[in-house]
Amino acid sequence: MKIRAAVLREFNKPLSIEDLELEPPKEKEVLIKYLYTGFCHTDLHQMLGEVNIGLPQVIGHETAGVVEAVGPGVKKIHKGDHVISDFIVSCGKCPECLKGMGHMCSGYLDAFVQGTMLDGTSRLKDKNGDMVKHGLYVSGFSTHGVMPEDGVIPIRKDMPLDQACLMACCVPTGWGTVTNIANVQPGDSVVVYGLGGVGLNVLRAAALRQANPLIAVDIEDAREEIAKDFGATHFINNAKEDPVPRVKEILGHGADIVFEAIGDPGAIIQAYWSTGKLGKLVISGVTPQDETTNLPLFRLPVHQLTIMGGLYGGIRPHTDIPKLIELTMKGDLKLDKLVTKKFRLEEINDVAEAMIKRQITGRWVCEFD
Ligand SMILES: [Zn+2]
Ligand SMILES: [Zn+2]
Repeated sequence: MKIRAAVLREFNKPLSIEDLELEPPKEKEVLIKYLYTGFCHTDLHQMLGEVNIGLPQVIGHETAGVVEAVGPGVKKIHKGDHVISDFIVSCGKCPECLKGMGHMCSGYLDAFVQGTMLDGTSRLKDKNGDMVKHGLYVSGFSTHGVMPEDGVIPIRKDMPLDQACLMACCVPTGWGTVTNIANVQPGDSVVVYGLGGVGLNVLRAAALRQANPLIAVDIEDAREEIAKDFGATHFINNAKEDPVPRVKEILGHGADIVFEAIGDPGAIIQAYWSTGKLGKLVISGVTPQDETTNLPLFRLPVHQLTIMGGLYGGIRPHTDIPKLIELTMKGDLKLDKLVTKKFRLEEINDVAEAMIKRQITGRWVCEFD
């Protein structure tokens, strides 16, 4: 079938909006008509060539839609199901999967990085008949996609799909970073650096865990209002003032748990110095692949610090995402306020530009017909 998609052909160049040919789903694959796809900071990292991926590929991984067809052997997904994409597909056999850490699966890593289906091939071709790859199995900036059955999660039909798409990346990453990775407890003092889609969900999850005080840090004053709405007790603009003495003034000491959710080496240094004795620094922001930083090591033993990384919030998508959908339907996650703009596929390069200029507050979501 013919589909319309945004193709990344060269790093540091605009995405190319093209008509592609999409083959039907093969064994244990599902064809989905996509309705909404969020624009994530990782999409920008990919466009800028800051992470290693195969080209050309259709990027986008935060997607919700409706199942149009299923391939042979598909058992759990049915035509007409409302679904979200889940870019973590686990093989069940590798060392990480056997430890119950399927989100770190190495068995399918090649397909994941290279942008193929699990059998190493692609269902996408361009007008010349050349192969185009599936970004993170999802290829979400397209009108339709074929995905592995295990990368598709059915959701209840009364969940608005423009909010549901955020369940495919920023919501579980933020929520899981707070609950699974950091294990925030009521009364913990928490600082969150970087209020993008993930950072706002970190903030919201920390507020639901009754963190207090809960300090939000960002370089854009425009994000103060949504930070307070999501539960921040204080807001610091770290472009205007050094946040470290300000955090210590508010708390009387360093924080129990500090999150860095933007992947900025400068912010990581500020986050490190904001962490108090016995504290945890949790980094979930993805820095460019070759980026390094210098942190003095003496504080690790002397202040008994813990530095942790978190990928995709350490979640188990098929069990955790249905729980998050229930929290959303109760209004706890405030996703109606997180979706701040809808855009058309043809406008996607303007959206990338707006993200580079830090003009995006909340999540901007691509809307398909
Ligand atoms: Zn993402
Ligand atoms: Zn595995």
